[in-house]
Amino acid sequence: MLKKVLIANRGEIALRILRACRELGIKTVAVHSTADRDLKHVRLADESVCIGPPRSIDSYLNIPAIISAAEVTGADAIHPGYGFLSENADFAERVESSGFVFIGPRAETIRLMGDKICAKEAMITAGVPCVPGSEGGTPDAPEDILQMGSRIGYPLIVKATGGGGGRGMRVVRSPDELVGAVAMTRAEAKTAFGNDVVFMEKFLEHPRHIELQVLADSYGNAIHLCERDCSMQRRNQKVVEEAPAPGITEEQRARIGAQVTEACRRIGYRGAGTFEFLYEDGEFYFIEMNTRLQVEHPVTELITGVDLVKQQLLIASGEKLTIRQQDIKPHGHAIECRINAEDPNTFAPSPGKITRYHAPGGLGVRVDSHIYADYSVPPYYDSMIGKLIVHGENRMTAISRMHGALSEMVVEGIKTNIPLQTRIMQDAAFQAGGADIHYLEKMLGMKK
Ligand code: ADP
Repeated sequence: MLKKVLIANRGEIALRILRACRELGIKTVAVHSTADRDLKHVRLADESVCIGPPRSIDSYLNIPAIISAAEVTGADAIHPGYGFLSENADFAERVESSGFVFIGPRAETIRLMGDKICAKEAMITAGVPCVPGSEGGTPDAPEDILQMGSRIGYPLIVKATGGGGGRGMRVVRSPDELVGAVAMTRAEAKTAFGNDVVFMEKFLEHPRHIELQVLADSYGNAIHLCERDCSMQRRNQKVVEEAPAPGITEEQRARIGAQVTEACRRIGYRGAGTFEFLYEDGEFYFIEMNTRLQVEHPVTELITGVDLVKQQLLIASGEKLTIRQQDIKPHGHAIECRINAEDPNTFAPSPGKITRYHAPGGLGVRVDSHIYADYSVPPYYDSMIGKLIVHGENRMTAISRMHGALSEMVVEGIKTNIPLQTRIMQDAAFQAGGADIHYLEKMLGMKK
């Protein structure tokens, strides 16, 4: 079993990892920037090391500083959390070559899944359904590009193979835009990701975002833990997540679940991961795999009763999965609202000192957050200050429980998106379930 884990992250997820380590009797090392001395997990950790100035590039993305912190504290493993270095294959490689366990998949798996063309090829080989499109990169000659476009059909989307974070994509609605769009996406991709390879696929007009959580050990065992619906998005950022996805039948879940677990075995996946799909007209289309823990993992924990972070730690310790697929029986419904320090109307970040804080509570209410009264939200990082998660026996109970919990939650001194989340819980289309990924922006008047 691992003895001491360095947590290479901040905020709520660092606290989440610390709590799982404590339950397993694993010591913790917090690393933090000079702006984050007062983070809750820094105070709770067994040891802490300041790794640099506030800017992420100088601290949470500073690979040598993190590795030396692990060396001086005698940690035996590094948990990357999400964001920052969590999907950086070079980091995973450096961690392992320096003699530490990387809590995540092997570097080569991260690299494979970080390249959209390779990831899609691997999924097609494993029998996972993908969005129809160009197999491999887009050709150079304009006439070949146009021929490929007409084969795929319009509208289509041009994507950078090295893209991420919703960048490096362009929707094309007619052939006369295609050649220019390919050239522009290539140029942007070269600057942003240092890789100008692009590909094309069919653009789905009204998809939902549905993803499957998986766990795999180092011995070829893999299970899925049902799906989550994360269709409530603004600018490709998830705002509300839930599990299970409304309307997905047990047969659909079993079929796609078998496909993703088979894919895990084929690619030699290790640890926790998520297969993301667009779902339209009853069909799943793979878009990408996240090779890490996700922000929305708690909704899966609440419906399955599995502690995903503990499982990550056990797998990284070399243990075999003891949970079998037949042990996963989802019960009830869970919803997560991301709580952001931002103006609920303009979405402008709202850092600053929290003057008053009251967390909601009661049956089926979970708060994953590092904030406390007098804590100052620094301006340097993501605006998410916590997650409010509820579980109920069915979806309507979960919605009304979330509504009540939001109304109990008091965060003063800064602006938060609590009013927006309340509006979503009261929205008739959200309550009906199954809204597509464009719905929230339409509700906000950002789209027709
Ligand atoms: P990234 O790695 O940048 O997050 P993804 O491939 O996951 O890129 O796509 C991000 C988002 O872009 C998706 O959640 C979806 O909203 C949209 N998108 C991507 N591919 C398609 C497609 N083929 N049709 C429609 N929308 C798409």
